[in-house]
Amino acid sequence: MSDSASAPVSSAHVFHRAPKSAMRVAAGGDGPYIIDRAGKRYLDASGGAAVSCLGHSHPKVIAALKSQIDRLAFVHTGFFTAEPIEELADMLAADAPGDLDRVYFTSGGSESLEAALKLARQYFVDRGEPSRHRIVARRQSYHGNTLGALATGGNMWRRRAYEPLLVPVSHIAPCYPYRDRREDEGDEAYGRRIADELDAEIVRLGADNVMCFVAETVSGATLGCVPPVPGYLKRIREICDRHGVLLILDEVMCGMGRTGTLFACEQEGVVPDIAIIAKALGAGYQPIGAMLARRGIFETVVGATGYFQHGHTYTGHVSACAAALAVQKAIKEEDLLANVRARGAELAEALVERFGNHHHVGDIRGRGLFLALELVADRTTRTPFAAERKVAARIKETALENGLMCYPMGGIIDGISGDHVMLAPPFNITSSHVGEIVDKLGRTIEAVTTAAA
Ligand code: PLP
Repeated sequence: MSDSASAPVSSAHVFHRAPKSAMRVAAGGDGPYIIDRAGKRYLDASGGAAVSCLGHSHPKVIAALKSQIDRLAFVHTGFFTAEPIEELADMLAADAPGDLDRVYFTSGGSESLEAALKLARQYFVDRGEPSRHRIVARRQSYHGNTLGALATGGNMWRRRAYEPLLVPVSHIAPCYPYRDRREDEGDEAYGRRIADELDAEIVRLGADNVMCFVAETVSGATLGCVPPVPGYLKRIREICDRHGVLLILDEVMCGMGRTGTLFACEQEGVVPDIAIIAKALGAGYQPIGAMLARRGIFETVVGATGYFQHGHTYTGHVSACAAALAVQKAIKEEDLLANVRARGAELAEALVERFGNHHHVGDIRGRGLFLALELVADRTTRTPFAAERKVAARIKETALENGLMCYPMGGIIDGISGDHVMLAPPFNITSSHVGEIVDKLGRTIEAVTTAAA
């Protein structure tokens, strides 16, 4: 195959995400690399969208999946359960914080959020509090693209065309100290001020009308790997408890080990009422997500109604559960959370060394192997690049030319301006991959920001 086989191609019939953009053609995977049909290797430093936490060729996961499919590829869970479904739920319940011990399987993140919203609603109906229906979430958040998840998210450009179809959701401030903390404010005072926006909004709506508050524990792609400031989530938990409002934490992107602990909320000392996970749960070997609910919620719903009024054809898909079970076993057996912490610290340090004083890098942030750089036109004034410069799109394309997959995003400040580059490499990368990421990203950022300045 010639080098031209690396060139992007246009599809005749596939309705791609960006139909006007030509696409490179992937042909194989080897550890953390994607290989195109010309044999060019791309280091997957973003796991796609923080998905491929074991790289692209983990032998034990592939073997477990093949063996499951040889025995039984699918069984509808309206008729049967199966061992991998039960074993995966047992493992997740044992490892989840607090009494989050009922696991509802889905096929991805959006479906998990829809299930969480519906469970929250049914819980209040079954408890005799049917007026509770309002959702509070945060600006610049992302919870998925289905209508309930889209309504919940605060990503303005994704919502715009669909506004008339979206249920009303209140959006309070995200936790974004780089831009929103006042100069005379410490982290804790800042966290308290913005958490108190939740209190004010619940009071404004009337607590009897409010069902849940939804937030990403560590903000993902829309804001760019922003961890909560100390005390923020504890304060949020207190406010929810005071008003009887359920706390739903979205760990679709930051969960399942990405930040160095299995659940990101463990580092905050906070247990949500409902947690949602996906991405690193199945590492991309199969599409799978899950919703975990606290025991009391499960008991209320099942006690009152007998069942949760929900379900999809692929709820608890046995091959997906078998793959996810093998992924989660590999993370334990290979002690990969320790590697996330060690390589994460090494990558953060190397990024600071390379970009700490870079005129166009305003902030370097994140946790574990979930890191982002905020790109700016001017580091001193924190002025973002003009949106027309399309810095994020250029970073993505230039990085691919340099043999690197990273996850840049534009519009991070207000849906229009602000750019970041997110890194979420596999949990099993080595120090040599860390060096390769920083080298290729360095060349990419240099070329794009020089051209955009
Ligand atoms: N929640 C968060 C935090 C996400 O990052 C995403 C996807 O990127 C979703 C929910 C939606 O997940 P999915 O794309 O699997 O539906």
